[in-house]
Amino acid sequence: MSQKHPSFFQSVERNFDRAAAHTGLPKGLLEQIKVCNAVYQMRFPVKIGGEVQVIEAYRVQHSHHRLPTKGGIRYAMSVNQDEVMALAALMTYKCAIVDVPFGGAKGGIKINPRQFSEYELEKVTRRYTTELIRKNFIGPGIDVPAPDYGTGAREMAWILDTYQTFKHGEIDAAGCVTGKPVSQNGIRGRTEATGRGVFYALREVMSFEDDMKKLGLTKGIAGKTMVVQGLGNVGYYAAKISTTEGDVKLIGVAEYEGSIHKPDGIDVDALMKHRKETGSILNFPGATNLPKREDALELECDILVPAALENQITPENAPRIKAKIIAEAANGPVMADAEETLLKKGIMIIPDMYINAGGVTVSYFEWLKNLSHMRFGRMEKRFNSNTYENLVSTVERLTGKVIGPKERSILTRGADEIDLVNSGLEETMIEAYRQIRDVYVSNPDIKDMRTAAFVSALNKISSDYMALGIFP
Ligand code: GLU
Repeated sequence: MSQKHPSFFQSVERNFDRAAAHTGLPKGLLEQIKVCNAVYQMRFPVKIGGEVQVIEAYRVQHSHHRLPTKGGIRYAMSVNQDEVMALAALMTYKCAIVDVPFGGAKGGIKINPRQFSEYELEKVTRRYTTELIRKNFIGPGIDVPAPDYGTGAREMAWILDTYQTFKHGEIDAAGCVTGKPVSQNGIRGRTEATGRGVFYALREVMSFEDDMKKLGLTKGIAGKTMVVQGLGNVGYYAAKISTTEGDVKLIGVAEYEGSIHKPDGIDVDALMKHRKETGSILNFPGATNLPKREDALELECDILVPAALENQITPENAPRIKAKIIAEAANGPVMADAEETLLKKGIMIIPDMYINAGGVTVSYFEWLKNLSHMRFGRMEKRFNSNTYENLVSTVERLTGKVIGPKERSILTRGADEIDLVNSGLEETMIEAYRQIRDVYVSNPDIKDMRTAAFVSALNKISSDYMALGIFP
């Protein structure tokens, strides 16, 4: 990145300052919220392919106003202290926005996971976890990691196993990490949670007729066009669920190897299959290859979903962005010094700290499941379905009509874990947007949704700090 841009953490601070001006909160309190409370930088040796490599890694706890702290662990060559600090800060605001009672944290290991064998990745992950245990930087009531870019359920299972090895007999040990495989104390629906949350959020945002009119759009998500950058866990599920459940048309995709455009719609599963077979999204039947990797970002569309890494929309390409809505599925995809250009063009930016909060929301459900030692739905599923059975039978008796077997099974079903997770997520995304929008509508000085989201978060975090009694 060239020197003139603010760093990622500076971008977050800049956005924070812009919002802080609208809160009227005391300076000292704002300063305490803004800083990173604890930064643990570590270096440890791991034998990779017969040679010792010194691995650089981090865990940052941004805010302890609520415990545990929470946030994913990223494996990427781009990992550095500034990035992990920025991501940890975003976690604090994200958790507050969706009323998840955690402080923010983030971890990162500077490796390219694709260049490591599974065995080597396991060694690195276990060693990293051991370092966290040694410094008391992990635990169900202390700091709870989760997947992020370059990590998934497999790494979380290694973290749990390492933790349990050291903390033998700790009854809530399973809550030391989330995003685990379902078979190892994970929760159904966690893998797709961030992408599903993006869909629920967009559907809610687009349900306000007046707001959409200002963008030149009709109300409702159905029939709108979408472009996605990044077909990882977040981008893939955001595209998949928006097209299948929301009737959105996916017209463009940007990936590492290039961009494609297909105005009549892309079947994302067919594209994934094509990529698996050919090693690339390019040359997808019926689609046009675009000359440059990021070109799809500049396509004319209703919704642009950057779901890869930070700093993708820069002062350089911002003037050419033609989307009406930018849904920040990744963390920090819009550089702070590109934002003004986008807002001036009348583009609505739905900020990362709200729109990608589905992941941590379902992580919260997983953590609760681990602490309760019981699957959601176990107590009430059968009771509810028996009650609905009785109701349906009574209606049949009173009307003299019989309800068909298919309808009957829909009407009498008790909720499973996945139903409860998805409904909890849906409720969370809807409620959080309404709170942000209320801030936006009731403060004419606030001109964008990021500032409104920040103000919503700051009001909640500050009241937690006030409860401590040290701030006036
Ligand atoms: N890494 C995800 C995020 O950036 C999820 C964090 C979590 O579940 O704790 O929000």
